[in-house]
This record gives sequence, C-alpha cells and structure tokens, in this order.
Amino acid sequence: MFDVVISGAGPAGSRCAQIIAEKGYKVALIERDVNWRKPCGGAVSSRIFKYYPQLRTQNFHHISGTAIYSGDYHKIAYPWKDIRNYSINVDRLEFDNFIRNIAIDAGAQLFDKNLAIDFITKDRKRIGIKTRTPAGIKEYFGNILVIADGMSSKLALKTDLRNKWQIEEIGLAKCAILEGENNLDKDIISFFFRKYKGYGWIFPLGENRFNIGCGTWLDGNLKKNLNQAFHEFINEPFIKKMFPKTNYREIWEGSYPLPALGVKEKCLYGDNILIIGDAAGFVSPISGEGIHSSVVSGNAAGEIACDALKHGDVSSQSLKNYKHYPNIKKIIRNFKIKVSIVEFLFENEGQNLSKMLELAETDESIRGEIISMFLSNSPPSKELLLKIKS
Ligand SMILES: Cc1cc2nc3c(=O)[nH]c(=O)nc-3n(C[C@H](O)[C@H](O)[C@H](O)COP(=O)(O)OP(=O)(O)OC[C@H]3O[C@@H](n4cnc5c(N)ncnc54)[C@H](O)[C@@H]3O)c2cc1C
Repeated sequence: MFDVVISGAGPAGSRCAQIIAEKGYKVALIERDVNWRKPCGGAVSSRIFKYYPQLRTQNFHHISGTAIYSGDYHKIAYPWKDIRNYSINVDRLEFDNFIRNIAIDAGAQLFDKNLAIDFITKDRKRIGIKTRTPAGIKEYFGNILVIADGMSSKLALKTDLRNKWQIEEIGLAKCAILEGENNLDKDIISFFFRKYKGYGWIFPLGENRFNIGCGTWLDGNLKKNLNQAFHEFINEPFIKKMFPKTNYREIWEGSYPLPALGVKEKCLYGDNILIIGDAAGFVSPISGEGIHSSVVSGNAAGEIACDALKHGDVSSQSLKNYKHYPNIKKIIRNFKIKVSIVEFLFENEGQNLSKMLELAETDESIRGEIISMFLSNSPPSKELLLKIKS
C-alpha cells in the first residue's frame, strides 16, 4: 500500500515522485523499461535549472542561441541574451535516468519492468494500478493514482477523463542521433519550418554528435507521410551541406507522437486521479518543447497530492487545485495563444512565416517581435500583420 502510485517514470512522473517522497509520503514509481530512450530532440531550456539546479554540474551540451528558418530558408538568428541562461541538449536515456535517480534518492520506490495495464477497482473506486512484469501480474495500491505514462497512455483512456487522440490533434515526429564530422554551429539549435504543417530540427550534442529530426502536425499528418518527410528533410541539399559526409554512424533512431494542441484542460484530475505531462498535453504547440512543462506539471501535481493527503481528502474537488495552480494556469493560457500563432504562421503553405522572416532579415525590431512570439507568447502586432499582408 502506497500513498501515491505513479505510472510512468519520465520527466513528469519522476518529478512528481520526488516532490511527494521529499514530503515523507510513500510513493511507487512504476516504469515499463528504464533503458528505453524516449524519441525526442532533447533540447531543454534554461528554465529547467529552477527545478534541477544539479543539471548545471552535469556534462550536458551547452547551447547559447537559436536559428529559425522558413520553408524557403529565410533565416532569423538569435543569441540568448544572458550567457548564464544557456540551455542544454541531452540524450534522453541519460537525462531521464539522471532525474529518475533524484526521485529515488528522495525516497521514491522504482518498480522497473512493470507495464501498467489497468486500474484495480473495488466498489467502483480505483484503488490501485495493475502491472504486467516478467514475473507475472503485480498490484500496487495507493490513495492517489498519477498517470504520467506519456502520449500512448492506456490508463488515461480508462479514466473516462479524455478520449483517444485524433490524428489531427497530434504531431508525429521521427529523429535520430548521428555521429560524424560536420559543419554545424555547435552553440545553436536550428529549426526548419516546412511549407506543410511541420518542421525539422538539428540539435548538436557535442563536437561530432547531433540529433536530427522532422515532424508533421495537425492536418499536416494527413498530407505527409512521416518517413518520407524525414527522408526528404535529411537529404535536402540545404540541410545536407551541414553534414556533407556519407558515413554517419547512427547511434539511435526512433519515432513517436506528441500532443499538438496544448493542455487537455478537462482531463487533468478526477477522484483520486491526476494526469500529468504528455498524457495531459503539456507540450508547446509551436516548438514541441515538452520536457520543461511536463516537469512543471509533475511538480504541481506532487504538491497538490501532498496537500490532499495531508487533509485526508483525495476527491476531485480537492485535486482540482492542480488545474488552478498558478504555473499550470500560465502554461494553459500560453499554449492557447501558441495554437492560434501556429494557424497564422502556416496560412497559405507557410507564406506568412516566410514573409515575416524575410522582413526580419532587414528590420531588427521585427526580429525581436518574432522571437518573443516563438519563445514567449506574444501574438504578432497589428503593424507586423499589415506588413506581412502588404
Ligand atoms: C520526436 C520528439 C521530439 C521531441 N523533442 C523535444 C525537445 O527537443 N525538447 C522538449 O522539451 N520536448 C521534446 N519533445 C516532447 C517531450 O519528449 C515530452 O514532452 C516529454 O518527454 C514528456 O514527458 P512525460 O514524462 O510526460 O512522458 P514521457 O517522456 O513519454 O515518459 C513516459 C514514461 O512512461 C513510461 N511508460 C509508458 N507507458 C507505460 C506503461 N504502460 N507502464 C509503465 N510505464 C510506462 C515510459 O517508458 C516513459 O518512461 C519531443 C517529443 C517527440 C515525440
């Protein structure tokens, strides 16, 4: 019997487990496979250091700026303003194990090789999580059950809080870690928006390693085949000249879906249930960045769970404070703005984005405006809209 049982030890689940364990509660952290490398670009913004200051002393690759390209290769480059605000690029296998171990050190009990398959119910109440392990079926009982097992969560669907993702409300992405001599600027991450709803990226991981990937979004999923999009992207002459050799060693390759329309507000909590991270849609609809927001959701859910346990009330009425937690409200609001920005950028096969970046090449004030649109959440000004349409 545990106070809290968490399904999924990715960034969201591990952070949640850490917070609850630090307050002295008994937490089971269930994970299907700690050796799984989550398909991901692995770009993590500096905001993560607020939650994990320990990451500053780790050997993850530092990044000090970004470059954004439109479908016809108009480019905007942007160095981070403050050098202390460097971001990091990580290999998810190392990163996930690092933060998972922080949760274990705080007292969470990890149960690896446990695939969560269903809830355990009694008198129509959910009282635990059932898993399949190499040794057979196991059962973990808890007062609060947290769903943190990502996009493909089966448990989330069994709660009746949310429906299955529709193809038009997700992104599909494929990426690889390659090794070999290249011409990349090792200090920046690059995004390459496409003419269809989608983008590619190249994120350096060190002198000779980089993460390269490509994804489609929303109705772009219906128009473009992911494998074809990836193949076209990595072989495009403009991209290829950044890594022109023919013999790159593939360290790993994977593909996976991600939520594309922001947080599913209605699915966040129920009676003794919390849903966090990708399983609840905590991914930026414009950049696909979800590691930081998943950690924020895990952190908030952890604090709300502790509060509920302290007051002996784990009802949905008590757990709804998760949705009203200030950082969660902020993320929900920001992501809504980003959804409308995406629609605007991709109007007429990405022409708005292309025109914007073209204008930015000669106008510094537009450059600033575009960056705050991508990195913060400011919608484009009327003046910029008029210039784009002219
Ligand atoms: C291709 C791609 C590229 C991306 N690039 C970036 C990027 O560069 N930067 C960024 O910030 N975000 C990126 N994202 C988003 C980011 O990967 C996610 O937002 C983040 O990993 C979400 O964390 P999470 O803990 O909610 O879920 P996950 O990271 O998916 O973790 C879920 C965990 O649950 C486990 N699990 C799953 N099912 C079960 C089960 N039934 N039982 C037990 N355990 C289970 C999994 O093994 C995993 O450990 C990308 C996503 C994709 C698909």
